[in-house]
Formats: sequence, structure tokens, C-alpha cells
Amino acid sequence: MKIPFLDLKQVNAPYMDALKTAASEVVESGWYIRGAYCEKFEKEFAAYCGFAHGVGVGNGLDALTLMLRASIELGRLAPGDEILVPANTYIATVLAVNAAGLVPVLVEPDARTFNMDPARLADACTPKTRGILAVHLYGRLADMNAIWKFAAERGLLVFEDAAQSHGAFLDRANLSSLVSRLSSNAVAYSFYPTKNLGALGDAGMVVTDDVELANVVRMLGNYGSEKKYVNKYRGVNSRLDEIQAAFLLAKLPHLDAWNARRREIAARYVGEVKNALLRLPEIPADPREHVWHVFTVRTQDRATREVLQRHLESRGIGSLIFYPIPPHRQEAYAASPDGTEFLLPADRLEGKFPIAENLADTVLSVPVSQVLTDEEVTEIIGALNDFVV
Ligand SMILES: *Cc1c(COP(=O)(O)O)cnc(C)c1O
Repeated sequence: MKIPFLDLKQVNAPYMDALKTAASEVVESGWYIRGAYCEKFEKEFAAYCGFAHGVGVGNGLDALTLMLRASIELGRLAPGDEILVPANTYIATVLAVNAAGLVPVLVEPDARTFNMDPARLADACTPKTRGILAVHLYGRLADMNAIWKFAAERGLLVFEDAAQSHGAFLDRANLSSLVSRLSSNAVAYSFYPTKNLGALGDAGMVVTDDVELANVVRMLGNYGSEKKYVNKYRGVNSRLDEIQAAFLLAKLPHLDAWNARRREIAARYVGEVKNALLRLPEIPADPREHVWHVFTVRTQDRATREVLQRHLESRGIGSLIFYPIPPHRQEAYAASPDGTEFLLPADRLEGKFPIAENLADTVLSVPVSQVLTDEEVTEIIGALNDFVV
């Protein structure tokens, strides 16, 4: 049996007719950027997420960057402000903060949830802290109850990187009364093809209840212009293509069913994998808070992980490491000698993130996408249970 980590052709094959129809409709329409399909998808996806406004952009990194830049243009943040971000994330989260002219300040994860540890937010704050950018890593919602409470107490803005968590549901009944009416300023999505809701190319979106913020994101993604050839901001070109919007409109109605299947597979792994060498992820008390973008197990150390990956490979099972090097250890974040760039404050870097560094050494993700058959899931469980060192 050969089980790839993720086969995108297999993911899209059941919808081939709908995708071909969507593509030919767009081709025949003669309108290819920011037209009726984009507008419809913005409305539908924002409503799906429970927000009033959606602005389609070119990709997830731009969604993150532009929601932060728009907050600066509106005077809610200022260049050089510090934003708390998890130390354990895909580098795009951190790059976006820098790209907006803000300073990312890393916060250690809770190794149990992989997400930003709210108990460590206070220590990371300085007088320049103005916001929090939470990431729902692997598809599990960060502890928004604690994050919103902390932000409300300190007057911080809250943003979310939801690139891995399309469809994760936060039941307001699970929140404390203090935060039950709070929400984030804006949430960024990516529709990169491998995400739970993926386009057939690059695409992204910012969703928000704030109409001013939505308007500025829209302008920033279109050269800073609302009216043709009148430029209010120094914008960029980051727009959602009609053809991608049409593909995403065709796929969105299936997202909940895919996520339900991912939860089913994850529950089987958690229930049936019994191997003392592996630490399994936890299913949240409310399972709707996790959409299992990836299913990640942990080994004792780096060497054991290598053996595990080779063992799975010998059984024909693909696996991937999300992520082998944490952002602060990347060459991109080696200290700038002249200090002219906005960087992570150097005094808070090396050796200060043992949990994030340990996760990078010990995590391994196995297939969990909706296309897996029950037999394939059984095969993967068997391989994990057979693993010895
Ligand atoms: C995929 C991803 C992004 C970036 O999205 P792109 O569309 O690839 O730019 C940002 N943050 C996280 C957590 C992601 O997984």
C-alpha cells in the first residue's frame, strides 16, 4: 500500500466536473480579476466565518500583512509597535509582522496544544506592545478565551492567522462572560492548495467586522487605490483571481464534511494508537475547535523521529515535519548588524524558546486528509503501533 502525505489530485478529483464548469464560466465571462465570483466568494466565506466583511487577496501572507498594514494606515498601530506572535508557527506569521513595519515578539507555545501559551503573554509584554497575532496551528484554535481577556485588560488589538483552521468552530457558550462578546479585529486566511479549503493556485482573504479596515485592506491590495488612478496609500498588487474564487465557491459547500472526516480519522488515531514511544495530540474538550489541518505526533528526540519517519516510509506512508526549524532560528532572522531593519529584539532570541525548539526537533505529521479510506487509516495506525527503536 502506498499512502502519500497528501495527494492534491485525489483531493480535487471528486469535484472535477464542478471545477471545470467554474473555470469555463470564468473564461467565458471575460472578467478575470475582482469581479462577480470574487465578490460572491468574499460574501459567502466571510458569512461562513461569522464576519461581516471579506476581502480577497493574493495569498495568506498578504492577508496577514495587509490587515496589519491597514491597522497602521488607520492609526490603530504605529510602525515599530510590538506584536506578540507564537514562537511555534510557520514563518509567514512572523514575516508578515516585519513586512508591515511592526516588531514580532515571540511567545513560547504550550507543548500540549502546540499553540501560543496565554500564561506567557504577560512576560512578553513591554510598553511598546500593541497587539497579539494568534495562530491556530495544525487546525486547533488557540485559547481565544484567554487571549481576548488578556488583550481587553491591556488594550491590545487581536489578530488571527487562520491559514490552517478553516471551519474550526468556537462556540461562544464555551467562553467566559467577560469575553463572550469580544472578537478579533481581523482574521487572515490562506487558500494555498494544501489547506483545508484550498484553491488551485494562490489565494487569501481577510475577514473582519470592521468596515473601515476592510476598505483599507481592499485599497492596499489594489495599489492603495479605490478610484482608478487615484492612490491614497502606497499599496501593493494582491488581488483574488476570479478563477480561484470560482474554484473556492465550488469547494466551500464541502468544507464541513471534509473537516468532519478529518475529525473522525484523528479520533481513530487518538483512540487506537498505543505506543509508549509516541505522544499523541489531544482532542479539545469541544472537538469542533480542531479541524486537523495536520495530525502531529511527537517522539522523544530528533533521532527517534528520524527512525519513525524511515519506518513509515518503509510501509509506504508519507509523513512531513511541520516545522523543522522555528522562525527565530532561520537565517532570515540572524541579527542585522546595523539595526536598520525591524527585527525580533535580539535580547529575546537565542535559547529563549526551548519549547518551540524542542517541538521542531520532535514533531512528525502523518496523513489525515478526508481522502483517506478506512483501510488506509487502519494501515497507518498499524504502522505507528509497530514502531520500535
Ligand atoms: C500557509 C500558511 C500561511 C501563508 O499562506 P500562503 O497562502 O502560503 O501565503 C501563513 N500562516 C500559516 C500558519 C500557514 O499555514
